[in-house]
Amino acid sequence: MKVIGLTGGIGSGKTTVSDLFGELGIDVVDADVVSRQLTAVNGGAMPEIIKQFGPEAASPDSSMNRRFIRELVFSDPEAKTVLENILHPLIRKECQRQLDASQSPYTILSVPLLIESPFWRSSINRLLVVEAPEALRIERVIQRSKLTPEGVKKIISTQATTAQRLDAADDVIENIGTREMLKASVLKLHLMYLSLSKQD
Ligand code: ATP
Repeated sequence: MKVIGLTGGIGSGKTTVSDLFGELGIDVVDADVVSRQLTAVNGGAMPEIIKQFGPEAASPDSSMNRRFIRELVFSDPEAKTVLENILHPLIRKECQRQLDASQSPYTILSVPLLIESPFWRSSINRLLVVEAPEALRIERVIQRSKLTPEGVKKIISTQATTAQRLDAADDVIENIGTREMLKASVLKLHLMYLSLSKQD
């Protein structure tokens, strides 16, 4: 019992939950963070991205031109596959490196589309799902980003359903209360994970 997968739909509170595990001294490997690093200035995926999509794929500072790539993959499914074929193996490799290097009694592996991916599902020992009602998730996301409610709904429609996530979950956090309540839920799970990690 070493790797706890953490997932949830957009705006459910994955990052907030993983930060709370981090505060308890648990190492967190976050596929989203790794993906952003790979496409940042000097990121490991940039040479191949520029090779495949041309110099416009990079901003003047050599990080990925996110607007260009977003529009490209939105209008061209083949380009989306090409981008995924560049990024996914690199994300997996770096996440695995971080998991291997982790020294905490267990490690949190946060992946937004974990349910959707057989690879990630086979990489974890237990799955924690963060849930919140759709209306609350939309409200939280539009408060912190430029997305509209329709934009958030569109993203939700591309993700696994709440029922699919709950079906796959070993543990569920209902993030419907205050941050203090969330902290208490995380602490309770942390104690259980610590005790499980001592059993093997
Ligand atoms: P995404 O899928 O978009 O990355 P996420 O699942 O990682 O989202 P967070 O970024 O943790 O979700 O949370 C979404 C927003 O809601 C953030 O602004 C966060 O601060 C806020 N939030 C999360 N949980 C709570 C809570 N219990 N009370 C108030 N605000 C919260």
